[in-house]
Amino acid sequence: MHWLVNKDIRLLVSLQDIDNLLEDASDQGDAHELKSLGFALGSLEELKNARVRVRAAVDQAHVRAYDRLSGVYRRRSVVPIVNGTCSGCFGTLPTARLQEAKIGDKVLCCENCGRILFWM
Ligand SMILES: [Zn+2]
Repeated sequence: MHWLVNKDIRLLVSLQDIDNLLEDASDQGDAHELKSLGFALGSLEELKNARVRVRAAVDQAHVRAYDRLSGVYRRRSVVPIVNGTCSGCFGTLPTARLQEAKIGDKVLCCENCGRILFWM
């Protein structure tokens, strides 16, 4: 992602990564897998702390949107735009929306599925 991208979008992507890692870690089988990949389980507390810090740093309206989307789409509520389409629902995005996403100065949602979009 380029440096112009809105801080909240970057934080929301990080928040999703953290939530996915935490979910993996809470699953026994995956926890073992994570450990074998070098993720010490002691870092679970660090992840939880990072989650709190990230959530506090994002505009709370976006945190609420993220939480609502996470309840529906689980691990994929913040998705990249791929070839002009939302990679969550594969709906084609209008040109104006693509331009906005490219500029990256605000948090945009897919008109079709509502997922939070980011330009890669
Ligand atoms: Zn979509």
